Amino acid sequence: MKNTLSDRLNNLAPSATLAMSQRSGELKASGVDVINMSVGEPDFNTPDHIKEAGKKAIDDNWTRYSPVPGYPDIKKAIVEKLKKENNLEYTTDEVLVSNGAKQCVCNAVLALVNAGEEVIIPAPYWVSYPQMVKLAEGTPVYVEAKIEADFKITPAQLESVITPKTKLIILCSPSNPTGSVYSQEELEGLAEVIKKHDDLYVLADEIYEHINYVGKHASIASIPGMKERTIIINGVSKAYAMTGWRIGFMAGPQWIVKGCNKLQGQYTSGPCSMSQKAAVVAWNADQSCVEEMRKAFERRRDLIVKLAKEVPGLEVNVPQGAFYLFPKCSSYFGKSFGDRKINTSSDLAMYLLEEGHVATVGGDAFGSPECFRMSYATSDENIVEAISRIKAALAKLK
Ligand code: PMP
Ligand code: GLU
Repeated sequence: MKNTLSDRLNNLAPSATLAMSQRSGELKASGVDVINMSVGEPDFNTPDHIKEAGKKAIDDNWTRYSPVPGYPDIKKAIVEKLKKENNLEYTTDEVLVSNGAKQCVCNAVLALVNAGEEVIIPAPYWVSYPQMVKLAEGTPVYVEAKIEADFKITPAQLESVITPKTKLIILCSPSNPTGSVYSQEELEGLAEVIKKHDDLYVLADEIYEHINYVGKHASIASIPGMKERTIIINGVSKAYAMTGWRIGFMAGPQWIVKGCNKLQGQYTSGPCSMSQKAAVVAWNADQSCVEEMRKAFERRRDLIVKLAKEVPGLEVNVPQGAFYLFPKCSSYFGKSFGDRKINTSSDLAMYLLEEGHVATVGGDAFGSPECFRMSYATSDENIVEAISRIKAALAKLK
């Protein structure tokens, strides 16, 4: 049969982070000792008290369909989390629980963006944002944040790309893939520009909120006049090492949440019942596990920054949050080893995988072709070994 996939699907790029991780897994299965720094997920196990809650939920028969937006107790736990941690007042009708933060982002984009409307995405960006916008038949508009600017955009840059067709701006802080963190003052600067425009919304992806090395997380929704135009995205995947449980949430204006509820009701139904019960405990119980993991990530950040700065030809920015390093590697473009020539950061990532046995992700998929991404959510030993392998592999390029 002929391939007659829809244009919608033919125009969609596969997730580069997941593809590289799969490639690294295949190499590992074939016996190669690969260090996987491609996919971004905590290497910790889900804390025991949360696992126990998941097991108990099964025994207590929380095994049926849940309400589409989530059980009342998880929505209540989210409302309390937003009050306690972010000093934001939401009602349970302004919260929707989904199958991971990823579905929340996609729900919001599909709910708001019409064909031909523009969505501003600062680059470097998380790989899935532009693809989700394309699914909605919207147009991604990129604003380049350079390494010299700590990978952050300025209000003037934002202003210069807003048009009458702009519907949404996607901000991610702490950022995947750069680890940059916007301060309260920087967000206020961006908010000033946004507030000048009617019918302009912000999707604030705060999934790395707790993996922050500079202090208190700033949420753009807390700035006067912004809550009614902001959709906060967050979840348990990163803070509580719960990537496989698939629980994320959005908090935002009720009409948007209601729209997403309708979409989700036709598309996936309510999220996993027992995972919701475990997530309630994650948010309501003692939070010391979050700080323990954050501290470990900070120590690893310091280690990888120190080691990567010693690698000739890499320009390293110090990440202030998340667990990614995003060094500039373009000084290697045009160089070769044997018959392998490096023209792009994806070529470099493939070379590092095959020659150095370290899986990373080329910056092309993040809209920043001069850089590549390493996830340091792995052991100190792996970090030391990976950078030593990368250094040796890069030294062979002439
Ligand atoms: N946003 C960003 C910036 C991410 O890095 C991720 C991780 N994949 C997500 C959203 C999605 O998180 P989840 O695993 O909860 O779907
Ligand atoms: N957020 C992670 C990453 O960027 C998970 C993979 C994904 O969902 O893209 O690597």
